[in-house]
Amino acid sequence: MGSIPTPAAEREGAMWSASERIICWQCGAEHAPGPFCPACDAIQPLPDQADYFQVLGVRRRLLLDTTALQKRYYELHRRLHPDLFQTGPQQARQASVRNTAAVNRAYRTLRDPIDRGLYWLTLQGESLGAGNKQVPPDLAALVFELQEHLEELRAARQGNGAVHLVEELTAAHAELIERQNALLEQLEQNFARWDAGGAAPELLTRELKGILSALAYLGTLIRDVEKGLET
Ligand SMILES: [Zn+2]
Repeated sequence: MGSIPTPAAEREGAMWSASERIICWQCGAEHAPGPFCPACDAIQPLPDQADYFQVLGVRRRLLLDTTALQKRYYELHRRLHPDLFQTGPQQARQASVRNTAAVNRAYRTLRDPIDRGLYWLTLQGESLGAGNKQVPPDLAALVFELQEHLEELRAARQGNGAVHLVEELTAAHAELIERQNALLEQLEQNFARWDAGGAAPELLTRELKGILSALAYLGTLIRDVEKGLET
């Protein structure tokens, strides 16, 4: 009988080596990086290598409840406010400023699934990189057609043949949004597989890169069509 893979989220305590753990300046307890000491609740200066999940003190999961995340953000924001530490020790004052900035950065990134996926890629030592400008193969025909329509629309603005082109572009826009939604669903499925553990990280990384590249490409295309329709 094979062993049951441990979900990634349950391994997180083991993911940080001793050098990445911090010692509370107030009570001396050793703990994983986080905005407050789990033993005495004193504010802790977050080390540079703390990841955004640690900064927000949430489990290392890609499928996030964004409502809960927002609540957590507001709570931290309130508890870290520099006004609360004006008369306290210097470590606490500095930590409140530093942690507030880190919490803002972490929340802005993790609340959005695409930014979260891109950030996760960087945690795997990867990025979208230069290969990212390639047209996803199943989009090639549509892209060609769209570019033609946009070109025609620019030319037709001078005359009065623009109406049917606007209709076609509006329909194409709806199709792009549909594809974008389908890709966002694929992104969620990829997140769920990371969270479940057990799948090969290289495979999941390659899949994640493909989805994010297609989303980046679609995003640009959608903006182009919207701009074409506006002007
Ligand atoms: Zn402490």
